[in-house]
Amino acid sequence: MNLLSPLRNVKGVGEKTGEQFSQAGIHTVGDLITFLPRTHEDFSHITTIANIAPGKATIKAKCESITTRPVRRGLRITTATLADETGKLQAVWFNQPYRATQLKPDEEFYFSGDFEFNYNRYQLTNPSAEKVSDMPVQTDRLLPVYRSIKGLKTTLVRKILAELRPLITMLPETLPSTIVKNQKLISRSDAFIAMHFPKVSEDIEKARERLGFEELFELLLASQLNRQENAKLKGWHIPFEQSVVKEFVAKLPFALTGAQRLAAWEILQDFEKAVPMNRLLQGDVGSGKTVVAGLAARQAAHEGFQTALMAPTEILASQHAETLQKLLSPFGVTVGLLTGSVKGVARKTLYAAIADGSVQVVVGTHALIQETVSFYKLGFVVIDEQHRFGVKQRQELLKKSKHMPHLLAMTATPIPRSLALTVYGELDISILNELPKGRKPIKTKIWSPNSRAQLYELVDMELSEGRQAYVICSLIDNNPDNELKSVQVEYKKLQNSIFKHRKIGLLHGKMKSDEKESVMSDFAAGSIDILVSTTVVEVGVDVPNATVMLIEDADRFGLSQLHQLRGRVGRSVYQSYCYLVTSTSAKPSERLREVERSNDGFYLAEVDLKLRGPGEIYGRSQHGALNLQIATLADTKLIKRAQDAAKAFVASGEDLLNYKELAAAVQYNQRLTTLN
Ligand code: ADP
Ligand code: MG
Repeated sequence: MNLLSPLRNVKGVGEKTGEQFSQAGIHTVGDLITFLPRTHEDFSHITTIANIAPGKATIKAKCESITTRPVRRGLRITTATLADETGKLQAVWFNQPYRATQLKPDEEFYFSGDFEFNYNRYQLTNPSAEKVSDMPVQTDRLLPVYRSIKGLKTTLVRKILAELRPLITMLPETLPSTIVKNQKLISRSDAFIAMHFPKVSEDIEKARERLGFEELFELLLASQLNRQENAKLKGWHIPFEQSVVKEFVAKLPFALTGAQRLAAWEILQDFEKAVPMNRLLQGDVGSGKTVVAGLAARQAAHEGFQTALMAPTEILASQHAETLQKLLSPFGVTVGLLTGSVKGVARKTLYAAIADGSVQVVVGTHALIQETVSFYKLGFVVIDEQHRFGVKQRQELLKKSKHMPHLLAMTATPIPRSLALTVYGELDISILNELPKGRKPIKTKIWSPNSRAQLYELVDMELSEGRQAYVICSLIDNNPDNELKSVQVEYKKLQNSIFKHRKIGLLHGKMKSDEKESVMSDFAAGSIDILVSTTVVEVGVDVPNATVMLIEDADRFGLSQLHQLRGRVGRSVYQSYCYLVTSTSAKPSERLREVERSNDGFYLAEVDLKLRGPGEIYGRSQHGALNLQIATLADTKLIKRAQDAAKAFVASGEDLLNYKELAAAVQYNQRLTTLN
């Protein structure tokens, strides 16, 4: 048996069990060995009920009686009387009614939880319960607790891992031995033994240090190598002409913020270098990223280079095309728009103009990366809302040039500083952390669905002032059909009763693009008062006169998504409002309260990272499966150590391919985190 053997070959794993593991993504022996415990429970201090003291406690007891009662919507409390030979106590669980079936009265369990003073008495709160007869031989130890897999008991996972123990002790080392030695790390096999079979809590700490270091080292080495590879590329030299920039800035209807100036300057500096720019422009919603890109495009056009700007939706692309047209046409720079809706002769003509260079700035959607599109001289590529695109799509656009074009990847979903430093370690980042002058912070309020009538009055008052509003509906059950239903129902409801006297528009993802287009332009022109929409308005849309946003079922949205949505208002000198209407009147989540409290996207990104972890946030589009199982980005000391070790490794000139597994992990990370 080896790490690649199917789990089914292990003693104690039958067909059904094997299938259940498979469904959780655990197919091989190696998969299970690297399936790390979520936490450990300390069974090394079991007390009797008579001797129990406040704090973390474990007892061995039977359940004498158990009842569940609803307290209010969304909350059910289960209370049980637990007994051993020395006495009785009460245990309580929130929203765990299954405890009543689990805790058979004639069976003995270990209960482990907080013994604390609550509701006028001492009780054991939310204890875990493990059947005594299920427990491995020595129970008086630290036990690993695994993420629950449907239908599989943690005890079974422990038993199977015990079978595999001899194999774990033979796990090969993946890190270079000098690093293990210099960093005083335990070996890889010792680390996995310690995670699955710890004796004392120091074992776990050492194991976490070792495995966390490895994860971070793999990430940081990847970013070093990405940079090294980028430095080998030859880029276009685009000289910085101060007069051109001055003229552009002078024609703007506003003064650039300090942050915009700095970002533009950084980009123009990069344009002059021999290696292609590889820069991330992070700016909170409404911070004015487009004009920065426009300024750089102006400089590129002046030197005879084309610019391509790719946006994730047609609405955004056409809005950008319009903005850039306004900014650039005074200088004779031509702007073209290429989306799926440009068809027939118009499309052919545009292709020709892109190929012969008569269109200097091409704005578009994914349509830009089609094979039929060929550029005359593409020098500058801008990706708006870059996290919406995969690495492959970005690369396909970049390939449309003889030399690697300069790349500016823009995002309004700030990558928390801690993550940016780790993932992008060495990447060039420009930050717009300053909103244009005169903006008033958006006032955000969580709103209970019970007092919706008052809320509609507030909205109507704004409309009477000449402002406009968004009403956002959620994607129920992640099902686009439901989304459609909810948005249509809401539209009819508002149109037929509450807002009869107002003009209401409807926008959702299933509409044809020309329909979307016309609704958006009506809204932008002010002929629609209220736009009822799904999250298709999430990114980029810019209608400064809209000052109210009402988000239905706000609790169904992620934190960053709420912040993004909210960024559609607060884009002018008028006071703006965002109302987060919850789906029930239950206590609002921490997430919602954070959004209510703060308008700072960078702060919220840090909070989101803490609440969900990087795997969840950057799980799909941006980083594939960037998955830090052990390391946390708060551990700056470990990050620093891994960073230094990665630098030293690169400097040593040692061949990464000498370490097969390490190389595979690093190359995987390189693909995930590269911009170009
Ligand atoms: P985002 O960074 O969210 O993409 P946009 O580029 O859409 O932001 O800009 C938001 C709005 O702010 C636009 O209407 C733009 O014209 C305006 N704007 C950009 N920079 C400034 C500035 N320095 N002063 C005033 N308004 C600005
Ligand atoms: Mg934008």
